[in-house]
Amino acid sequence: MSLLEGKTGVVFGVANKRSLAWAIARSLSAQGMRLAFTYQGERLREGVESLSSTLPDSVIYPCDVTSDDEVDAVFSQIGTEFGKLDCLIHSVAYAPKADLEGDFVNTTREGFRVSHDISAFSLVALTRAAMPLMEKAGTGSVIALTYLGAVKAVDGYNVMGVAKASLEASIRYLASNLGPKNIRVNAISAGPVNTLAARGIAGFSGMLKHHADKAPLRRNVELEEVGNAALFLASSMSSGITGEILYVDCGYNILGV
Ligand code: NAP
Repeated sequence: MSLLEGKTGVVFGVANKRSLAWAIARSLSAQGMRLAFTYQGERLREGVESLSSTLPDSVIYPCDVTSDDEVDAVFSQIGTEFGKLDCLIHSVAYAPKADLEGDFVNTTREGFRVSHDISAFSLVALTRAAMPLMEKAGTGSVIALTYLGAVKAVDGYNVMGVAKASLEASIRYLASNLGPKNIRVNAISAGPVNTLAARGIAGFSGMLKHHADKAPLRRNVELEEVGNAALFLASSMSSGITGEILYVDCGYNILGV
């Protein structure tokens, strides 16, 4: 019997085959979870369609997480298709390039607003919309992706670090709110991985090398390792865990000097 047989999930944030969301989807699907995927705009539709078609019985829907109407539409379609929902993967983040380049002190009002809306508030909006379907399932696991820049100042991460701090605080408040409904809310704090979003961060390749040189395991994390951590958080193997930030970073976060 597979760990997630009979379970259903929705994955936000697949851009291409290097996306953390795609690694997570493969791990969940391999253990029997049926998945819905979302894509932001027609530009990404074909790519997400061709990836998702490699997994059994998956469906895809458009959703820009800044639109309440699109969020409502996705969960209404999932309700019709699946009847219930066991798992929500939030793997979405964005900050304007200009705000990831200069000094943090020069962050614009609009850059601050948009990065928090897409990277942090969206978790609240998606979780709220998922809640009735998770109540139907009798259980739920919400999993978001975060980074060390939420709790430490990381050069170049700038306003995204502040948005991730908001995301991590939201994890705790949502976990506290939804625990009585048997809905768990956790995040994976992944070490750096070369993805589309990561390339927007100034000095990212230097960051990759630094992590690999210094991390206790002396390497960078593999996509599959992030996928497997999500599998743990999605399954009943983690049934006693909520409100946590699980570091999957080859140990980098434990270091002082
Ligand atoms: P990715 O493949 O580029 O995924 C980011 C996703 O966010 C894309 O699918 C992107 O779609 C989506 N997105 C952005 N704005 C959106 C919106 N308004 N509505 C819906 N979707 C939107 O990069 P990734 O590295 O896998 O990122 C996934 C998550 O992991 C993010 O939360 C990121 O901060 C986190 N994370 C990444 C690393 C790393 O080193 N890569 C480390 C720790 C945590 P578009 O392409 O259309 O914008």
